[in-house]
Amino acid sequence: MMYKCLNCSKEITLEQISEKIRCPFCGYRIVMKTRPKKISKVLAR
Ligand SMILES: [Zn+2]
Repeated sequence: MMYKCLNCSKEITLEQISEKIRCPFCGYRIVMKTRPKKISKVLAR
């Protein structure tokens, strides 16, 4: 699960978040969950 800071728009991993969800870069407390882009191959026939 990836998080994205709503203040500085930097992506945060769970390893960078300790107990409280907070941006390790700017200290902003509001982060948004982001899903990593799925790489899906679609065969067009
Ligand atoms: Zn931030």
